[in-house]
Amino acid sequence: MKSKLEIPVQRPTILIIDDEEPIRNLLVELLRAKYDCTSVSCAEDALNVLKGDVFDIVISDINMADISGLELLRHVHSDRPDTVVIMISGGQTIESAIDAIRGGAFDYIMKPLDLNHIEAAVDRALRHHVLLTQKRTYENNLEEMVRERTTRIAHLAYYDDLTDLPNRTLFVDRISQALTLAQRQPQLVGVMLLSLDRFKKINDTLGHQEGDFCLVEVANRLRKCLREGDTVARYDSDEFALLISQVKATEELADLSLVLAEALRSPFFLGGQEVYVTASFGISIFPDDGTDEDTILKNAGAALYQAKKAGGNTYRFYTSDMNARAVKRLALETSLRRAIENEELVLFYQPQIDYETHLVVGAEALVRWQHPTLGLLPPSEFIPLAEDTGLILQLGKWVMRTACAEACTWRAYGLGKMRVAVNVSAREFGRSDFYESMVEILNQTGLDASCLELELTETTMMQNADAAVELLTRIRKLGVKIALDDFGTGYSSLSYLKRLPIDTLKLDRSFVDGSTTDPNDAALVVAVIKLAHSFRLQVIAEGVETEEHLRFLRLLGCDGGQGYLFGKPVPADAFRNLLDHELDYANEILFSVT
Ligand code: C2E
Ligand code: MG
Ligand code: MG
Repeated sequence: MKSKLEIPVQRPTILIIDDEEPIRNLLVELLRAKYDCTSVSCAEDALNVLKGDVFDIVISDINMADISGLELLRHVHSDRPDTVVIMISGGQTIESAIDAIRGGAFDYIMKPLDLNHIEAAVDRALRHHVLLTQKRTYENNLEEMVRERTTRIAHLAYYDDLTDLPNRTLFVDRISQALTLAQRQPQLVGVMLLSLDRFKKINDTLGHQEGDFCLVEVANRLRKCLREGDTVARYDSDEFALLISQVKATEELADLSLVLAEALRSPFFLGGQEVYVTASFGISIFPDDGTDEDTILKNAGAALYQAKKAGGNTYRFYTSDMNARAVKRLALETSLRRAIENEELVLFYQPQIDYETHLVVGAEALVRWQHPTLGLLPPSEFIPLAEDTGLILQLGKWVMRTACAEACTWRAYGLGKMRVAVNVSAREFGRSDFYESMVEILNQTGLDASCLELELTETTMMQNADAAVELLTRIRKLGVKIALDDFGTGYSSLSYLKRLPIDTLKLDRSFVDGSTTDPNDAALVVAVIKLAHSFRLQVIAEGVETEEHLRFLRLLGCDGGQGYLFGKPVPADAFRNLLDHELDYANEILFSVT
């Protein structure tokens, strides 16, 4: 048996139908060298055989007793369109042959049979059959290809090409379906946005190909964590979204986020190395956090933002008090604007001690906000807000002017060379008129430039490093001192220390704390101090709280310190008092400790 798609590479098959036995035998005899021949004596038998087998060629007599050859031809033609039919016409007239051709026969042979003629006709028929099957195969393939392409295009419209997860469009559609369903049979629906922490870094350091690979792997891991009926989708470049229907309690969603985090915990192999990936989750719930897909998604986004802001690798639920917080922030912003005009800002001063001379050599000016209803606020409560809103520019100017004016009054205490240190945030330092504004303040207040010190963090200096170096150089030319604040918390790259035009290095509090408890920290501090000294930098320690700290830091070669041990930040008059009455207090502490 041959299938109709097979081109007869071996032996083609022929079915021969004739009611005259001698003719059948003659044909079989003639053709069997090249063909597999089957012969039957009537159209009825032929139809039976054709039910089971497929033939490449059928040779049939036209005039037969029961069913005529023409009728058989119709059957073959409709059931086996690739079978090529040759009719044998017994009548002396050409009419039946013409009927046969009209009925779909490929050729006809007149009786009495001419052997050469038969062979040639069958060969032609076979060639025609091969062509027919080839054409059919091609058409079928084409059809299949078109079908495939069409489904692929439809797929692309709703699925992400990289991960093969549903895309944002399909996801939003699924939410709206889930919400419609949930409205009818009251139930909770959870929407969770998942964003990979620091994914940009993977892309930047390992390349996009590894980044893509990472996303595919993340998608696979997430898929495995879901129940049937839930959806995980690719929502944005490094964001995935999950739709969890039939939630009984909100804790389920918190649990799920932990399961997902766990699934991401084992390392990813990217670019030949192990990479650890964490994620942040923002969760919102129907109907509490919204009743339409837009609101639910927006609120999940707000919750995600909170999770990221908390440092990532955690989850946050959307809560209406997140809105309340936004409102509160707005109120705080409005009142911070007024604070400067209303003179609600206050500067506190904290002494800085020189370990060699035992003198108070300077003071750091630290801003506070005497809020009319919230009380005295520390900088952590409003400096970030001031930076975000740009109010830091006004605030910074006020701080510098006030601090410089205050420092002028210290001359009366016989401490002419005492410095005031002012913190400068990145945004202030980056403004184009920073230098001019500082010079103007120095001129207006009459403070000697060498009595002013600016405290900047590494991050501030490294933003636009070339411009920063140039600006710092200009500032130092005036005699103003520069201190690198919070050293040990930023990049802490020792190699660029040499490049930076600075005078003082302020070791961060955490470093100082560690030096008395952790030998590694102590060794690090020693190394930092040595290096700093080789660049002729002063090293002073922040957060010296205990005598142990002090003893240690002096031992390690620190030049000076600042901290609760010597004095907490205090308002201007209290600080002046301290200078007035307790000029020797630093001396006492230092002597008592050595
Ligand atoms: P900072 O410049 O590193 O200031 C040192 C911080 O450590 C101050 O906190 C100070 O009160 C605190 N501190 C000093 N000694 C000790 C100690 O022995 N133990 C402990 N636990 N803490 C100590 P404060 O005043 O809350 O200031 C926090 C930060 O706010 C400052 O860090 C500075 O970055 C920023 N800041 C303060 N005033 C200003 C300002 O006028 N302008 C700008 N841009 N930032 C400011
Ligand atoms: Mg500081
Ligand atoms: Mg500091």
